[in-house]
Amino acid sequence: MNEDFLQARMDMVSNQISRRGVKDERVLDAMRQVPRHAFVPPDVQLNAYDDFPLPIGMGQTISQPYIVGLMTELLKLTGHEKVLEIGTGSGYQAAILSLLCKQVFTLERHPQLAEVAKTRLKALGYSNVMVICKDGSLGFPEQAPFDGIIVTAASPRIPQPLLDQLEEGGRMVIPTGSQGSQTLQLAVKLTGSVQITDILSVVFVPLRGEHGWNV
Ligand code: SAH
Repeated sequence: MNEDFLQARMDMVSNQISRRGVKDERVLDAMRQVPRHAFVPPDVQLNAYDDFPLPIGMGQTISQPYIVGLMTELLKLTGHEKVLEIGTGSGYQAAILSLLCKQVFTLERHPQLAEVAKTRLKALGYSNVMVICKDGSLGFPEQAPFDGIIVTAASPRIPQPLLDQLEEGGRMVIPTGSQGSQTLQLAVKLTGSVQITDILSVVFVPLRGEHGWNV
């Protein structure tokens, strides 16, 4: 079974991620390493490497593999960075990040999801990830500034606290728009101002909380 998953993982990287244009070898390698099937519920494990998002409980989803690869590549990590993720969910994206930077802080508002992800990441040996249960739309000022911020839930706009907590030269990837459809945006902070680039259309579950959706 594990061998089948290994082959499925290699195929996922070449057919879905590399073929669509993700080039960063470190990102591709991380996605070849992290056992995505260990991050999804048993009943969908056989679909863990398929080309779509999957349910992870509590009405939440783990993103499609390509979107994980694309968002991670946009952060341009080299290994020295401190990264903040908003929306831990299963912990899969955090595991990928942990192989590519120095330290990952990941925020999840749902206590049950945070607990499961924390236990899972620890059991799998991703020791440079810290899972914190809180409203991530406020960021994590205790550890700011961050070299990279990745938001894996959709926000009506880029939350100001997250912009404030981005390091000079830092990069943030975030889906913004309505609750049904969003644009993935890259925000880069340069000499105090923020340059925003639209990347592509995406659909994410909503970011709740003070600077997200209040409904
Ligand atoms: N990155 C995850 C998938 C994220 S799904 C993975 O790799 O599996 C989006 C997650 O964002 C959900 O778990 C949801 O509970 C969480 N979320 C929504 N609003 C949030 C907020 N304000 N703060 C922290 N987490 C939030």
